Amino acid sequence: ATSAPTTQVDSLCPYCGVGCQLTYHVQGEKIVRVEGRDGPANHARLCVKGRFGFDYIHHPERLTRPLIRREGKPKSLDGFDPSRPLDVFREASWDEALALAADGLRQIREAHGGRSLAGFGSAKGSNEEAYVFQKLVRTGFGSNNVDHCTRLCHASSVAALLEGVGSGAVSNPVADVADADVILIIGANPSANHPVAASFIKNAVKAGKTLIMMDPRRTDLARHARYFLQFRPDSDVALLNCLIHVIIDEGLVDQHFVEQRTEDFAALREQVADFSPERMAPVCGIDADTLRTVARCYARANAAMIFWGMGVSQHVHGTDNVRCLIALALITGQIGRPGTGLHPLRGQNNVQGASDAGLIPMVLPDYQRVDDPAIRARFEAAWGCALDPVPGLTVVEIMDAALAGQIRGMLIMGENPAMSDPDLNHARQALASLEHLVVQDIFLTETAAFADVVLPASAFPEKDGSFTNTDRRVQLGRAALKPPGDARQDLWILQQLAMRMGCQWPFQDTAGVFDEMRRLMPSIAGIDWQRLLREESITYPCHSADDPGQPILFSDDFPTSNGRARIVPAGLVPAAERPDTEYPLVLITGRLLEHWHTGAMTRRATVLDALEPDPVVMMAPSVMAGLGVGPGDMVRLYSRRGQVEAQVRVDAGMREGEVFLPFCYREAAANLLTHDALDPWGKIPEFKYCAVQLEAL
Ligand code: SF4
Repeated sequence: ATSAPTTQVDSLCPYCGVGCQLTYHVQGEKIVRVEGRDGPANHARLCVKGRFGFDYIHHPERLTRPLIRREGKPKSLDGFDPSRPLDVFREASWDEALALAADGLRQIREAHGGRSLAGFGSAKGSNEEAYVFQKLVRTGFGSNNVDHCTRLCHASSVAALLEGVGSGAVSNPVADVADADVILIIGANPSANHPVAASFIKNAVKAGKTLIMMDPRRTDLARHARYFLQFRPDSDVALLNCLIHVIIDEGLVDQHFVEQRTEDFAALREQVADFSPERMAPVCGIDADTLRTVARCYARANAAMIFWGMGVSQHVHGTDNVRCLIALALITGQIGRPGTGLHPLRGQNNVQGASDAGLIPMVLPDYQRVDDPAIRARFEAAWGCALDPVPGLTVVEIMDAALAGQIRGMLIMGENPAMSDPDLNHARQALASLEHLVVQDIFLTETAAFADVVLPASAFPEKDGSFTNTDRRVQLGRAALKPPGDARQDLWILQQLAMRMGCQWPFQDTAGVFDEMRRLMPSIAGIDWQRLLREESITYPCHSADDPGQPILFSDDFPTSNGRARIVPAGLVPAAERPDTEYPLVLITGRLLEHWHTGAMTRRATVLDALEPDPVVMMAPSVMAGLGVGPGDMVRLYSRRGQVEAQVRVDAGMREGEVFLPFCYREAAANLLTHDALDPWGKIPEFKYCAVQLEAL
């Protein structure tokens, strides 16, 4: 194989939402090297995941044949070994597996109705796969019970943004940091989770921009910050309302902007009246002078940009946290211009696109509400069937409904709720209780361990499709290889299932799916497949063929019913579970630079797994001293819901009383410990805060 000629295929990175463009170097049936391309989001840069995280596709554990659970084999993770699928499953032909998969779902639909079925689509799949998946659930299953991992990452951000500014996506691209004077980052760790975006931010600081970082944990980018505010976890609203209080109190409000372009400012002024720096300093652990200085710095900037991540969104008050950020931008007029605005850093490489394409239970593609009769009628006419008028259940609600016997069958494509959901013992019981579970994936994931039928799918470099990055850029991923063995492309699998569930669809190829999408989604109406092939990257909204796309939103009106942005005040809501004498520490979960989410891909990528091979829990030296442990020692972490064991790693950036556990390790699954309390608006779980205890082993 080493002497075979090398071909090059231009595509995208399969990991984070930055959307780096890259080139695969292919020799024979293998990708042997990856290099960065000069794309608008990466300027030829790649991080360690993009550069070295590709060989998971050649891993011996790739699924290459459809699998059917053997008679009598329990649905459980006890003794589960993804390298030995035939212990639990038998191989089957596609005809047999598809017939069994579809028959099981159809029988449940006929006996109990469409609302007894649900589907989790994937933010790892393309826009076209997401669109076809939600269409299958809504027209083939017969309900709106379709969701995906956006529920676990930025659902609260989207809820607050839609309510406040009428659009759930970012207002300005990452590259706008070059036009900002001040960059404010809260609850995000871009150096680990959006490394190429972090490199643009570092460049901006080098060019003289001011960086303000706010986070309970001091991470790499804080080294570049002029102001680093290490606030107490769970005090986000106190901190942000305090900044708003200072801005109003010191006359730094942009009155013209507030009067001309917003509504409900008076309610905000009243709400934050009691949030003076002196009162909030002990609540958030930041001294009053620093709070004043930072508020002035942001408000007085000619252009200031806000970025946030899951440290903001994954709380029972996640929507409130984002309401505060929106208010901060609106009252200072820091929106609608270059170098300003609101940027929730999107996690997965296509979580923006999968959400836009309709993998959300309350909205059809392009955030068009399912409970609006006029909108529903338009989709019914296009799809040729009646649609359920009731919004569906969200991820955690679906698991609860499964355990309650209301959801009886599921299709899960490319997501791993047996690792990613909160309170995993509960979620795994729910998966085990399903009468019929079909999993479509590239590996025998922890979720596939509960499946009745497993359908071997295509990895990222094995298919064409469009993907939408955190900047709203629609970009092309291209196939470099064929799927191995009998594994098939996801679009083919979904269409086969749909056909067996009674749907007749006209799609010939990926371009055909995109064409139907653009006819139903005004935001991408101006992007056609040929244009995408030609231009590679087009930012939406893009309404016509001659529209270049709009990287910066809200220059004129907001896309709300009256064109104004709505300021929504937020009060203090405590975390669902606070530390006590029995569980005295706060657990914060998150990601590592080298591993991606539940680890299904990166832990099978040779270089990445070698860099971070074992479960670690990070803590301040004082916590280690109190426990009498040193770096590398093993500890057990307990919560009221479960326990895991991991190696101690010293992290001087952690505060006393808090520990950080990555959620990528199957053998120490962080979500065995987390709490499934939900934010009431975004229905996002509180992954960033629960009470735990530590024990030395
Ligand atoms: Fe991939 Fe994100 Fe790294 Fe870019 S920054 S190479 S998109 S993981």
